[in-house]
Formats: sequence, C-alpha cells, structure tokens
Amino acid sequence: MKNSILFKTVATVVFFSFLITPNFAQQQEPPKIDNEYQVGGVIFHQKAAEYRALAYQAFNLAKMRLDMDKKLRKKLPKSERKKPRAIIVDADETVLDNSPYFGKLIKTRQPLTIRSLFEWKKSGKAKAVPGSVEFLNYAKKKGVEIFYVSNVPSNFMEVTLKSLKQNGFPDAKESNVMLITNSSSKEPRRQKVAETHRILMLIGDSLNDLSVAFEGKSIQDRFTEVEKAKNLWGTKFIVVPNVMYGAWESAV
Ligand SMILES: [Mg+2]
Repeated sequence: MKNSILFKTVATVVFFSFLITPNFAQQQEPPKIDNEYQVGGVIFHQKAAEYRALAYQAFNLAKMRLDMDKKLRKKLPKSERKKPRAIIVDADETVLDNSPYFGKLIKTRQPLTIRSLFEWKKSGKAKAVPGSVEFLNYAKKKGVEIFYVSNVPSNFMEVTLKSLKQNGFPDAKESNVMLITNSSSKEPRRQKVAETHRILMLIGDSLNDLSVAFEGKSIQDRFTEVEKAKNLWGTKFIVVPNVMYGAWESAV
C-alpha cells in the first residue's frame, strides 16, 4: 500500500514537473516504473458496465438539471437572467476517455509524461465518455454555450480540438477551449466565463474542475468541502467517475 502511494505521488510530481518544462522534447527517456496499481482503474473504465452506467447517470442528471433551468431562472435577478447561458466541462476523463493511454503506460511500465500524452492525443484515438456527446449537443441546441476548461498545456490546443471535433462535440473551437496558461488553477478561467455568461453547471472528474474550494487540500479537508457543498452535487456540480487517477492521489 505504502509503495503504491509512493508511486502515485512520484507519478504526480513527474507529471507536473513535465507540465512546467516547455522543451519536453529534449527530456530524457523516463525510467521504467511499476504502475501496476492502476490496473484495476483501467479495467473498470474499459470493462465494467457499471462505469458506463455511472457516466450515463452523470449526463442524465445534467440534462434533468438543464431542463429545470426554465423554472429556476424565474427566481434570478434580471441582470443574471439576461446573460447567455454556459456549461463548463473538463476534457480528460470527463468527456474524453484516455484509458487506452493509461493501459499502455502500465504495459510498458512508463510514467505519464507530457510527451507521450501529446502523442496519444495526436493519434486522435480518444473516444467520448458515454453520454457526453449527446448531452452537450442537447445543451447546445437549447442555446447553451459549452466551454472546455482543461489542464493540458497550451500547445495541446490543436490535438484537443481534433479529439473534440472527431467525436462530434459542440463548440470545439479555440475560443471555447481554455487550456493552462499561467495558472493550473481553473478558477481564473471559470471567472472569465462568468464575466459574460451565467454558468448553469460544471462537469468534471476531479473536484478541482468544479471549485477552487477543493484545491490543494488534505484528505480530511477535501471531505469537509464535499460536505459543505452537499446540495450542489447533481445540481450545479456533476461528477463523472474516474478511478484511474486524480487530485486525490496527491492528497494521499
Ligand atoms: Mg479530467
């Protein structure tokens, strides 16, 4: 157990150190690692019908909430009501399934690196998370603008757009895809959307996709914040399952 925690921590540190290294092409080949602990997570994503059911459940809830907005908006101040509506979604493991990439890392005993992640994305093989394309196109048809807020570096724009377009996601254009620039916190990007739009809901596989309240917190504080936001789960915050990796790893 201790070992797997250590590997998770090392993998996270390696990932983020690559994120802030612009010339990743010049990095040396990473050392072989034991990432066996992720096997269960990858199998769950690829072979458990429960995973598929949970994903549909998340997007069905999102649709129900969107349909309720007609009624709910009547209670809002006029200035808010007049704003165009938006939904913020994360990309990886929220609308795009990268489990084949993580499966390959286990097989080849490689850590996640920005270089191999880029190659995977460039391949265009990432499929949509079940229910995501249908829901986001439904929202688009209802006049809601979709913003993709993702924590891959800004040079991933082209490959991200390619994956989104290939899978038929709406608003797959540069103005609506917000990648990391200065800060890995998604809060400034959320605020930017909120300047012009009324954000109906946020959808993500990591709590950091939803609110700044969860960022950089210990395990206990993350639990506390989830309790505080009790009424927002399934209403404003929609969580898509991801048992392969997450912010919980660094909390552990
Ligand atoms: Mg994600």
